[in-house]
Order: sequence, then structure tokens, then C-alpha cells
Amino acid sequence: MKRFPFYAWLAILIVVPALAQQPQPAPTPAPKTVYIRAGHLFDGAGDKTRENMVIVVSGDRIQSVSPASAASIPAGATVVDLSHATVLPGLIDCHTHLGARADRYDEIYNFKDTPFQSAFAAVVNARKTLEAGFTSVRDVGSLPFLAVDLRNSINEGLVPGPRIVASGPPISITGGHGDLNNFSPQTRVSMFPEERDFQIADGVDQIRHVVRAQVKYGVDVIKILATGGVLSKGDSPGAPQFTPEELKAAADEAHMAGRKIAAHAHGTQGIKNAILAGIDSIEHASLIDDEGIRLAKEHGVYLVMDIYNDDYILGKAIEFGLPKENVDKERAIGRLQRENFERAVKGGAKMAFGTDAGVYPHGDNAKQFFYMVKYGLTPAQAIRAATSNAADLIGRARDVGTLEPGKFADMIAVTADPLQDVRALENVGFVMKGGAVVKDTITAKR
Ligand SMILES: [Zn+2]
Repeated sequence: MKRFPFYAWLAILIVVPALAQQPQPAPTPAPKTVYIRAGHLFDGAGDKTRENMVIVVSGDRIQSVSPASAASIPAGATVVDLSHATVLPGLIDCHTHLGARADRYDEIYNFKDTPFQSAFAAVVNARKTLEAGFTSVRDVGSLPFLAVDLRNSINEGLVPGPRIVASGPPISITGGHGDLNNFSPQTRVSMFPEERDFQIADGVDQIRHVVRAQVKYGVDVIKILATGGVLSKGDSPGAPQFTPEELKAAADEAHMAGRKIAAHAHGTQGIKNAILAGIDSIEHASLIDDEGIRLAKEHGVYLVMDIYNDDYILGKAIEFGLPKENVDKERAIGRLQRENFERAVKGGAKMAFGTDAGVYPHGDNAKQFFYMVKYGLTPAQAIRAATSNAADLIGRARDVGTLEPGKFADMIAVTADPLQDVRALENVGFVMKGGAVVKDTITAKR
């Protein structure tokens, strides 16, 4: 047995009486209670709306949800009257890049912008995203470790924004979707030469190292690039990147650290490699085939298919200097991705809402609902992809995704009926996050 050293006894002699003399902390005031009248309520758990409901919010959580006839609202209580609106859970976008700007397509910005430019943009983008009704997002790629710091700043109340599940930079092979390709070998943009920007990894050992390094600096989720991409140079979206062994090492290492892992994968084989490696969600999934759909179902893997941004990439992005190589790739893949989304819906694959915000302007996230319905989901299914399904994928189902007792009071309201026309979600008039009203153009008007 180790001896208890003398100075330790001394510390107890000094500290314990000091603690005993501490004044008792003042009792914390009872949490504020708010009563929300919901004319129509879509709670995200089922497919239908319920009429004339009352949601009781205590502090930052939902205390109860009940028919208005069964609820007693005390005189003088704080009431939010949304009796002429549809109330829904706060929306969740599982694929955003808050540090990215949709007007920065010219290659020159790789060399002109400092990381601070991206961070300032992220502060503005976070607010736009929240005000559009997205109370949670997963950020799947930014400079190291912008999304982590933004998450922490929002949680501290320093800046407004959604709850963030943060990744680090997406992990890429040398010459892959995450690398800076086709410049002279003398060209280098690097903040962290030793860690290769926490981004480039070749071989199982390097992958394990980068995943561990990202976890060390606070990421919630790992993002890996399992095929080439549309918006990179010198690679093909259809071609696998990383071997099955490398992908498996990444998934194992992430899971060992209690993190989920998302794989960017356009190509048919890369999608299958990622699913078989144990990845939790396939991002883009553009060229998924029937076998890929079956594997995704079998392994319980979510597909996160960004089927709105094709409109923007082939429109505004070209005006903002998107190089021809990238335009050609999007032309080859965008339409196929929408058709394969429809095929995956019919095949019964699990869908979570993710848009690649940052490729198009932040705040326009809800424009994707229209396409999800056009290509096979019912409005209720599309909304559930952005609420309960998304919460499940990002590992936050205990806190967000449905309007049920015990969850965070994250909710939105719209005046048109989103189950009739899902585009109603493009005009969110009321946003509450954690019991605090963030935006309200509905009750103010009445
Ligand atoms: Zn992305």
C-alpha cells in the first residue's frame, strides 16, 4: 500500500474547513414555463398531424404534448399562439459545410483566403441556417478545427447557430477529392505540415493516426472520402479512393473512439466498399446500384443524397468561376443521382436529409424537400428524413428530432401546410431552439 503523504493530510486540514464555511448557493430559480398552442402538430414520430395541441416547454426541454382540451394553461402564463400554423420539430441537415461559401468557386481562393475568412463566413452561415429552421446540423468538412470551435462558441451562447455535430477536414488519399491537385509540386497551402492538414492519409497506419488526431482535437464524427468528387480536380467521382482495408481501419478507429463515420461516395464500387467497411452513412450515393441499395438496407446504413444542389452548381456556380472540369462532372452525375434517389426510395433504403450546404448558399437548405418528394418520398417521409431519421443518424435521437416530452424544445412553425406542399418549409416563420425564440414572424403578425 502506498503511504498517504503528509502534505495530503495538510491539504485536507486546510481545504475541508474552508469548504464547510462556504455560503450555501442560492436556490436556482424554477425553469421558465412556456405554453405553445399548435393549430396543427407534426411531431416527427408519426406520419400524421394532430389538431389543436398544446406543447408545454419547461426551461430548454419539452415537458408535455397534449390536446388543447386536456391542457390547463394557468392565468398569466406565457403563451405562444401558433394556433393558425403547423408546428414541427426543428429541422436537421446532415450534410453541411458551414465554413464554405457558395460564391468562392474560382481556384484563386485556395491561395488568397486565410482560415479566418472561412471562420467569419461560418458565423454568418450558422445564423442563416438556424433562421431557416435548421436547429441541428452535421458539419462534414471544414478547415481544422473550425466546426469544433463554432460548435463550442454556439453552445457557449457567443454566437447564434444550430446545434452542431462537428467533423474535422474530410480524410483523403494523396491526389484524392480532399487534396489540392494539378498544380506544380512546389505549390503548397498548409497550416499543419506535420499532420498534413489532418486530412491526407495513405495506408492503414496513417489513417489511424489522422482519425486519432481529429478525435484528440474534439470532433464528434469522422468524414472520409471513399471516391473521387465533383468539385475537385484530377479525379473521377466514379473511382474508388482508399482500399477496403483502409476504409475498415477508419471505421474501426472511429467506432473505437465512440464516433460515427460518414463516407463521401459517388461511385458504385466505392459505395459498396464503404458499406462493407462499416461506415454509418453514405454521402451523395450518386451512382448507387441495386446491390448497393440492398447492402445499405442490410447494414442499416443511411443514404444522405444531396439532390437539390445540381440546380445551383449548373447555374450560379458557373458564374462564380467553377472550372469546366467540375461543370462536366456535375453534368454527368447530377441527373443520375436524382434517378438513383428514386430507385433507393423504392428499394426501401433509409434516407436522412443532407444537402451539401456551402456548395449552394446557406439558408436555402429546405429547397431540397421539393426534390425529395418529386423523386419518390411522401412529404411526411421527407420531413421525417430531416427530423427523426436525421437525429438517429447523427446520434442525437435522445435530444432532438421529434416533439416529445424530454426532448429539447427545438421547433419550427409554418403557415402553409407542408404535408400538402412541402415547399411550405422554404418559408419558416417561427424558430425555437432550446426553449428560446430565435425568429418569429407568425405571432408578431397576428
Ligand atoms: Zn460535402
